[in-house]
Formats: sequence, C-alpha cells, structure tokens
Amino acid sequence: MAGPGLVDAHGRTVSYLRLSVTDHCNLRCLYCDRRMRVRLSHFDVLRYEEMLGLIGLGVDMGIHKLRLTGGEPFARRDFVGFVEAVRARFPRLTLRLTTNATLLAPHAKRLAEAGVDRVNISLDTLDRATFARVTGQDLYPEVRRAIDACLDAGLGVKINAVAMHGVNDHELPGFLDLARRLPLDVRFIEYMPMGGSDWKPEQVWRAGDILAAARALVGLAELPRDDADAGPARMYAIEGGRGRFGLITPLSEHFCGTCNRLRITCGGELRTCLFSDRTYRLRPALRHERLGLPAVTRIMRLALLRKPVGAELLAARRSGSGVSRMAMSSIGG
Ligand code: SAM
Repeated sequence: MAGPGLVDAHGRTVSYLRLSVTDHCNLRCLYCDRRMRVRLSHFDVLRYEEMLGLIGLGVDMGIHKLRLTGGEPFARRDFVGFVEAVRARFPRLTLRLTTNATLLAPHAKRLAEAGVDRVNISLDTLDRATFARVTGQDLYPEVRRAIDACLDAGLGVKINAVAMHGVNDHELPGFLDLARRLPLDVRFIEYMPMGGSDWKPEQVWRAGDILAAARALVGLAELPRDDADAGPARMYAIEGGRGRFGLITPLSEHFCGTCNRLRITCGGELRTCLFSDRTYRLRPALRHERLGLPAVTRIMRLALLRKPVGAELLAARRSGSGVSRMAMSSIGG
C-alpha cells in the first residue's frame, strides 16, 4: 500500500515515478538523440531486481503511479517479464508504459493480462517515408500494428507526437481523423530544446497555433483539467469522435506548480526536474553492502526537498539555451 505521501519544499505532493529501464533505443529520432552515444556498461545499468527495490521504496514513500520508459523499454531483454514482476509485487500501483511501439505488437495481450493500465506510444507522423526520416528506421507499419494490437487487447492508448514545423505541421487532419475513428488520445507535445536533438527555434509549433488549426478542422470541446487522468495535457473531446485530442505545453504554459514527478534513469540517477540537470546518484548507496535502501531513502528525501520549480530555472537561463543538456533518451521523457 502507498505510504503517507511525499511533499516537497513548494508544497507539491510527489506521487509519480518515471523509471527508465534502459538507455538503449532502436530509433534515432531527430528531436531526441541523433548522436551515437556511449551507452552505460552492463554493470552500470540497474538490474531488474534493483529496480524492483527502488519501486518498493517509492511505494513506501507515497508513489502510486509508475511509468516505465527508456531509451526504448522493449529493447531491454525480458522487459515484459519485468512488467509482470512489477505488477505481481505492487498490485495496486497504476502502471503505464512509454514506448515507440516498434517492438510492442507481439506483447500486447501479455501486457493487458499483466494489468498495464495504458500505453503511451510516441508517433510523430502517419506517413511511412516521414517516419523513416524522423526516426532513421523504416518501422512505421510495426507501430500501426502495435496500435491495433493494443486496442484489440483492451489496453488504453495515447499517441504522443512531437509538434514540429516542417515535419508534421501538415498532418493535423490525419491525426484528428485517427482520434475520430479510434478510441484513443492523440496529443501534440511542444518541441523542447533537449541535449542531443537537432532543435531549431523556427521548428517549434506552439500549442496555441496547433489548437487554432485543429479548431478550423473539427469541433473541439475542452474537457475539465481533472478529467480522466489527463496529466499535464489540455484535453478536448472531438465532435462525433471516439477518441480525444490534446496538447502538452512545456514551453508555452508550464505545469511546474502541480509537478508530481520524480525520474530515475536506468543507471540509478534520480532527477527531480526535467529542466534541471542536477541528479542524485542512488546506485552507489543501493549497491553498498551496509548502506542499501535506507540510505537511498535518505537521498531521495533530501533530493525531494530540493526539487526546483523548473520554469524559474528556464527563465533564469539565457534565451536560446536548452531545456536540458541531457538527451530525452537518457532521461526517459
Ligand atoms: N523510446 C520511448 C518512446 O519513444 O516513447 C521512450 C523514451 S522517449 C525519450 C519519451 C518521450 O520523449 C517521447 O514521447 C518523445 O516523443 C519525447 N521527446 C523526446 N525528445 C523530445 C523533445 N525534444 N521535445 C519534446 N518531447 C520529446
């Protein structure tokens, strides 16, 4: 059962952990990580058993929602077995995944049986050639198969597209049509200047402009913020549609005041804010024969007290400098 709740120095209750299970990804998305990075060595990546220990500690501290991400989580060996182990050990945890879905289709049924609540699928285009250009791999059909497999298995599906001028700004009609026909959410995320990306200011397609363009195409009714677990997204019902449309606005309208997240990388680095490169190393304490989980708890509590308000960090930085030096593939999104 979840513990009493973690409250930071700004009065925010932290209840959501994003855990990256690997820094390896089978795609090289232009907005994420185009460099040939040196990956962590096998020894430096936390074993699944160690990750279960950290999740348990989080649950004891008040975490009740867990997102498993990467790199590409399905690129790690026996990821589905790990999902099942998480569910078996923490039956009450809300369990979600973020994936590019290129390797997911054969596992959809098993994930549903394991009680995964929902899958977030990153898909920036509905055009096969553009997909290959954005990701470096011709795997669009695999993603479409995975979406169908998830829906058939009864998994909730959210599609996240990074909004980029010159790449997918002509694809709103297709994405809106997808959310009209299928019972899934399509959400556009503003393109952030992360380390490792090819970000250019003129590529940023702002949420306000996306919304205006979408309204010109379909009837949209804004849903209340506390509606069905929308997280930081602003969500809209689509007139006559089965799915919903949404916008995630890290640049034009930050959501730091209600940020409830902690992130842990696959190497055991705790990150309390997407916009701060300050991390806390949990692995040495975790693997220390005398320190172990009690010391990790102390580090996590200390880190939480120092959890910053990211928007203040961004405002204090010179304009044009990035959101983070680290690539999203290392942080986990
Ligand atoms: N490989 C998995 C996937 O593709 O979903 C998980 C990791 S990926 C880093 C997590 C999320 O970060 C994806 O939804 C991706 O679209 C998002 N992301 C990566 N770089 C971004 C950027 N520069 N701006 C906005 N979102 C970004």
